[in-house]
Amino acid sequence: MKRFGILLSLLVAVLTCTLPAAQLSTIDNFQEAAARTNRVLAIPDFERTPDALMSSVTDGIMRGNSALDQIGSRNLDQVTFENTVAALENLRAESSIIANRAAMIAETHPDSLMRAAGESARKKLEEWTVSLDYREDVFKAIKAFASKKQRLSSEDARLLATTIRDFRRAGIELPPNEREQIEKLRSELSKVGAEFESNLLAAKAPLVFSKAELDGMPEDFFSSPGIRINNDRYQVLADVIWQFNLVEDCAHNEATRKRVYVAHDSLAKEKNVPLINQMLELRNQIALKLGYKSWADYQAEVRMAKTAANAEAYIDNLVSGIQPKFEAELNEFQKTKAADTGDPSAKINIWDWRYYTNQLNKQRFAVDKEAMRDFFPFEQTLDGMFSIFGRVFGLRFDQIESPYKWANDLRLYVVSNAGTGAPLGLVYLDLFPREGKTVRGGEFEIVSGRVFPTNKYQAPVAAVVLDMPPPSRDKPSLLNHADVEVLFHEFGHALHCILTRAKYSRLAGTHVPVDFVEAPSQMLQNWIWDKRVLDAFAADYSDHSRKIPGDIIKKMNDARFATAGMFYRRQFAFASADLALHGPHPTNEPYDCAAISNRIFEHTFLPIDPGTSFISSFRGLNGYDAGYYGYAWADAIAADMATVFEKAKDGYLDKQAGMKLRHEIYEPGDSRDVNISIEKFLGRKQSVQPFLKKIGVGAQKKNKAPVESSQKAK
Ligand SMILES: [Zn+2]
Repeated sequence: MKRFGILLSLLVAVLTCTLPAAQLSTIDNFQEAAARTNRVLAIPDFERTPDALMSSVTDGIMRGNSALDQIGSRNLDQVTFENTVAALENLRAESSIIANRAAMIAETHPDSLMRAAGESARKKLEEWTVSLDYREDVFKAIKAFASKKQRLSSEDARLLATTIRDFRRAGIELPPNEREQIEKLRSELSKVGAEFESNLLAAKAPLVFSKAELDGMPEDFFSSPGIRINNDRYQVLADVIWQFNLVEDCAHNEATRKRVYVAHDSLAKEKNVPLINQMLELRNQIALKLGYKSWADYQAEVRMAKTAANAEAYIDNLVSGIQPKFEAELNEFQKTKAADTGDPSAKINIWDWRYYTNQLNKQRFAVDKEAMRDFFPFEQTLDGMFSIFGRVFGLRFDQIESPYKWANDLRLYVVSNAGTGAPLGLVYLDLFPREGKTVRGGEFEIVSGRVFPTNKYQAPVAAVVLDMPPPSRDKPSLLNHADVEVLFHEFGHALHCILTRAKYSRLAGTHVPVDFVEAPSQMLQNWIWDKRVLDAFAADYSDHSRKIPGDIIKKMNDARFATAGMFYRRQFAFASADLALHGPHPTNEPYDCAAISNRIFEHTFLPIDPGTSFISSFRGLNGYDAGYYGYAWADAIAADMATVFEKAKDGYLDKQAGMKLRHEIYEPGDSRDVNISIEKFLGRKQSVQPFLKKIGVGAQKKNKAPVESSQKAK
């Protein structure tokens, strides 16, 4: 991963209009224009040493505590919205800016000492933030204000309600001894969670195979570092995800696929199964003490789903909705396997689905993914994305000089309103892999949009962190189609952050329910499957007149959802298991997480090996717990929202639809209920039908014999 390239090869420089660093303008040129619209555009002051970072944290906590003391010591007759709710929000916003810088440093800084300092700064601030939940004096002042029942603007009322809700959810209203118990359970839970993660990091599963047993694997694999041990012995690490996926995708030998799958789905089994049971027990106790029926209900309260029952019903409906497509795909896989093995009753097991998906894609769709890279040189793709987003959302993007860069390839852009030229915010772009950079595609909020107590608006700052292939000696950075999808997706999050107009950081931009936050970005992924969009920027880097042939785009689209039944039934199995584990549970009954989750997996997806326990390495369980359903939930909203563009005059390039998305989704953030925002954007109630149609369910339903027709299709 340690690869630094020359940023701009000659060829790329010819093709793009990116200016060399010396000619870039500085932020000064934009600050004045921002000030004219009452916006404060500032480059974040990233700490450059571990000491500087730690003193930012100490100072931040000190300032925060003194602000808390001020709120807490208010005479209850003199409480106002500003000196209680808004003051608390302000101090939280200030501390989150330090925490955001720390997180960025922890995950991307090239210096390991800085990364470690970032990690401990983040932890310290997290602990401090939890302690805010138990400031009785502050809560008392806020409640005193609430009891005045003053008329508030809808955004202020929403902040007040959210603030009180969060205190209540932490248990502040409980008698002191019960509250102490909850605090204790919370801290035990975070310890168990940390142990779960470290067991996973330590879990290794090396397996040795002969070359014959690995028949079907690409030649590159055998020459990859660490694979060949000696003459005919090759080591596969089932715990390394790319090796696991490659074997499951390519190995012809079923016994090989099964061995690797069993090893992978048994990772950390001995240690993590009892830990998960303990985790579930702790969560259940916390939820019950706080007056919820289950942890899933506790988590759902602050999400779009609102209750666990809604989330369950949603997933159950999708499970049955997709049944015909799933069956059709399964049937086709079985026929292929029967032909392969000569066994007419061959069954598809969990270690077969990736292999037969891959076989089908290769035979039926024959798209050469590697050859596609020629159409996506990085600079041209980035400029293309900027010009598309510029056109659709009425924006412009200008690269400026970043006064401090912790990595050479870090770039900084000003995002402005195209019409007025008014700067809105900043976005960092961190492109290529390097030592110590763990993020492989993500967006970070560095500074959130909000109104300062001075009434000026704080311009948001986001960072898009990517893992794009670096340029080589003779070629520019060439992306594959999946890389382009990641770029559009992550930049979508950055737009959500920067285009916000919310008054409070707590309700700004991406601070929406977790079962919605992915939807706007997932929707943008559709753009790069559209011929018109692709033709607008994708062109061969060595012959700019060569566009992606139309039949290739069609084949890519045909392949995209050909095995969606398999893909989504597996997703739904994870979601159902996650919800079941966090559902109502009698307090004195021990948990058996492996049995519950294995049973659901077999029922909803495919036969497994009973000795395995996929749950022991299921990362979603720690942090996104009772929330896995959110991926499918957001997927359906994304498909629904995409229909607005699909029906628009100019399709995915339609400016009117784009501006509607900007005004109804990006700008409000969470300052109003996202259900309202979605309905305003759609101009109607939400529907799950576009999602089902997109993944091919609608078409299947119409057929009398879905299995037969699916085989003839495409
Ligand atoms: Zn995302």
